[in-house]
Amino acid sequence: MNQIESVRPGEKPVAGLKTANWWHKRNGRVVCDLCPRHCALKEGGYGFCFVRQNVDGQLVLNTYGRSTGFCIDPVEKKPLNHFFPGTSVLSFGTAGCNLGCKFCQAWGITKSKKVLDRLSQQATPEMIAEAAVQLGCHSVAFTYNDPVIWAEYAIDTANECHERGLKTIAVTAGFICPEPRKAFFDVMDAANVDLKGFMEDFYQHFTLSHLEPVLDTLRWIKHESSVWLEITNLIIPNANDDLGEIRRMCQWIHKELGDDVPLHFSAFHPDYHMMDTPPTPPETLFQARDIAMEAGLNYVYIGNVFDPPRESTYCPNCGKMLIERRCYDLGVYELDRNHCRFCGQTIAGHFAERPGHWGTRREPVDPAALLRSMESDQRGAIGAG
Ligand code: SF4
Repeated sequence: MNQIESVRPGEKPVAGLKTANWWHKRNGRVVCDLCPRHCALKEGGYGFCFVRQNVDGQLVLNTYGRSTGFCIDPVEKKPLNHFFPGTSVLSFGTAGCNLGCKFCQAWGITKSKKVLDRLSQQATPEMIAEAAVQLGCHSVAFTYNDPVIWAEYAIDTANECHERGLKTIAVTAGFICPEPRKAFFDVMDAANVDLKGFMEDFYQHFTLSHLEPVLDTLRWIKHESSVWLEITNLIIPNANDDLGEIRRMCQWIHKELGDDVPLHFSAFHPDYHMMDTPPTPPETLFQARDIAMEAGLNYVYIGNVFDPPRESTYCPNCGKMLIERRCYDLGVYELDRNHCRFCGQTIAGHFAERPGHWGTRREPVDPAALLRSMESDQRGAIGAG
C-alpha cells in the first residue's frame, strides 16, 4: 500500500490518508468491497462509514494513523472473559462506522463527520505496539468504533504487535466481506463479535445492516480461523428482547458454533436515537442467561450491571466457581491453566499460569507523548553519562 501524501498535486500533505485495499471501479465510480454495503463513491465522495473516500479515482482510508484516543483497560471490559483474565489491554479506536445503530453508545465518534477534525492523537502502528510494550500491556485492542472500516490500520498495527510478542483483539459487529475478513482476522488472536439480535427486521430497522453476513462471520471465525471468539448481545427493551428470539439465537449458537463460545448479555442504557427507551431490566438479563444455559451453552455472562454471581465463570462439569468477577476485579481463581482445579475439566479459552492483576482501572494514554518522553529521558541519560 502506498502512503498518499496529498489529496491533489500541489496541495499540502494530508496526514491520515492511505490507499485502501478491497475496491474496484465501475461506471466511473469507486466501489468499496470491504463491507457488504459496497458503497459506490463518486469523485470526492465518502462511504457510509465516512472514513473511506474516493480521492482522484482511488479509494483511500482517511484515518490511517489517527485515533480518537487510547486507554489501558482490563481485558474483561472488551468483554473477553476467557482470554488471559485480569490482563491489561491498550485499546484505541478512530472514527466512523459501517452500521447505523439507533442505540449507538459511541455516536460521538461513529456518527459525525466533524470528528475527523478532532482526531488529535496521531500514532503509527509501530508507535502503538512500542507503547503497549513499554506500558506492560498484554494485548492491543481495536475497539471503540468498528475496526473493520479501518482494517488497513488495524492489520498493520496487529503485525507490529505480533513482532513484539503482544496479543491482538478485535471488537466488531462482524459486518465484513469474505476476502477482507480473512486478511483482518488472520492477524487477530481474539474477537468479541456483537450479535445485535436474531431477526433480519431488527438488523434492518435498528442497525441499518443485515443479519446473515454477521452469522457468516461468526461461523467462519469459529470454524475457519484460530481466533478466540466471544459474543455480546445487547438486549434492548421492546426491540430485541423477545424471549423466543433470544432462545432461537442461543439454539443457533449452540448448533452452529458449539457450547464453548462465551456469550455476554449486556444491558442497554438510553442513548443516541433511543433516549425514550428504558434501560434493560435486570430480570430480562437473568431470563436470557437461563435460556442460554438451557440451550446448552457452557459460559453465559451478564454485563453493564453489577451482579458478581452472573459475571463469574463456573466449571460446566462440577459446577464449582472457577473465576470470580466483581465488575472487572478478579477474586477466586481456581484454574490450572485450562483445567478446573476441582475435577480437571478442560475450560475453553486462553489462560496463563496465573491471572493478571490489572483490576478495574481505566487509564488514558498518549503513545506519541510517552515515546517522546522516553526518548528525551534516554538522551538525558546519555548526555549525563
Ligand atoms: S467499509 Fe465503509 S465505504 Fe466500504 S462499503 Fe462499508 S460503509 Fe461503505
